Amino acid sequence: MQRSVPQTFDRVLSSMCTEPHPAARRAAERYLATNPGDPSTYTEVAALEADAVDTLGEITSLAEPHGYVTSGGTEANVQAVRAARNRLRDRTNPNVVAPESAHFSFNKAADVLDVELRLVPTDEDHRADLSAVRAAVDEETILVVGVAGSTEFGRVDPVPELAAIAHDAGAFCHVDAAWGGFLLPFTDHAWSFAHAPVDSLTVDPHKCGQACIPAGGLLFRERAGLDALAVETPYLESTSQATLTGTRSGAGVASAAAAMDELWPDGYRREYDRASALADWFADELRERGFGVVDPELPLVAAEVPEPAFDALREREWRISRTASGLLRVVCMPHVTRGTLSSFLSDLDAVR
Ligand SMILES: *Cc1c(COP(=O)(O)O)cnc(C)c1O
Repeated sequence: MQRSVPQTFDRVLSSMCTEPHPAARRAAERYLATNPGDPSTYTEVAALEADAVDTLGEITSLAEPHGYVTSGGTEANVQAVRAARNRLRDRTNPNVVAPESAHFSFNKAADVLDVELRLVPTDEDHRADLSAVRAAVDEETILVVGVAGSTEFGRVDPVPELAAIAHDAGAFCHVDAAWGGFLLPFTDHAWSFAHAPVDSLTVDPHKCGQACIPAGGLLFRERAGLDALAVETPYLESTSQATLTGTRSGAGVASAAAAMDELWPDGYRREYDRASALADWFADELRERGFGVVDPELPLVAAEVPEPAFDALREREWRISRTASGLLRVVCMPHVTRGTLSSFLSDLDAVR
């Protein structure tokens, strides 16, 4: 049997995952055979999870966070919708209002939970259009979603305004900072629990947190948010479970705790500074070559690269992807260096 080898990160430019921090790798291996889904048996990893949630609270400016380490942003977003649905059971035809830049996990949430998803247009700079959101919200709305670091353009929605619209309608406000959450503390964007009465938030250690997969994060401002997800667990010593998964990997939990222990806040700040400078440089290089570039706000560059060049770069084994509108997307994750992008530009010059 042929022994397979995973890809290296050398040519991976469009992924939001990265090489985990060495401390995260060690912790993942050590806790591989633990199950935080059964916290009264696996007490050590349960304690690490509590630490991880506390640190995620610090990162998102929430003094007493209620949440857990999810399998990823998808589970966190599905659970945020589920909590809002469960807390507003009086709404008979519940709907969720989100900008069209929202991650496709909200489509899954709507499907699984049988709620209506109202996707509204974004403005010319790819942020939620407030008048469109206002027009879509009604008395059946349970949740208004803001994206803080959108998957395609790295844009941050006007979170305080979205929270106000949500609360005026008696609905909850959820911020999806799955990718942006470990970058935004070092910016002056208004996105976190401190900036607006946000009710719940997604922030993924397995993206910019440099933890191992699977490690997402879901936080609620109020205990009632998490409680709305709890079901009774008859055969376990712990009496209830709020997670969507049952048995889950202690590797993700332990690696998240270890990565944040190593990197929060100085390591993440250094990486934010490095990646931002790299994205600005790369955007300039593309502009000088005559490509249309979407100004990077967070370290993610989208550019108009013609299809034949894109295809030729894929053939040269660059792992790149396109936005829905066909733009090349380069995400400046920790493994993406100036050397990587210089050699990408040389290939681009050769194929265009
Ligand atoms: C990546 C991402 C998700 C999905 O997270 P997974 O960990 O892939 O499930 C959700 N929202 C945003 C904004 C993302 O960038």
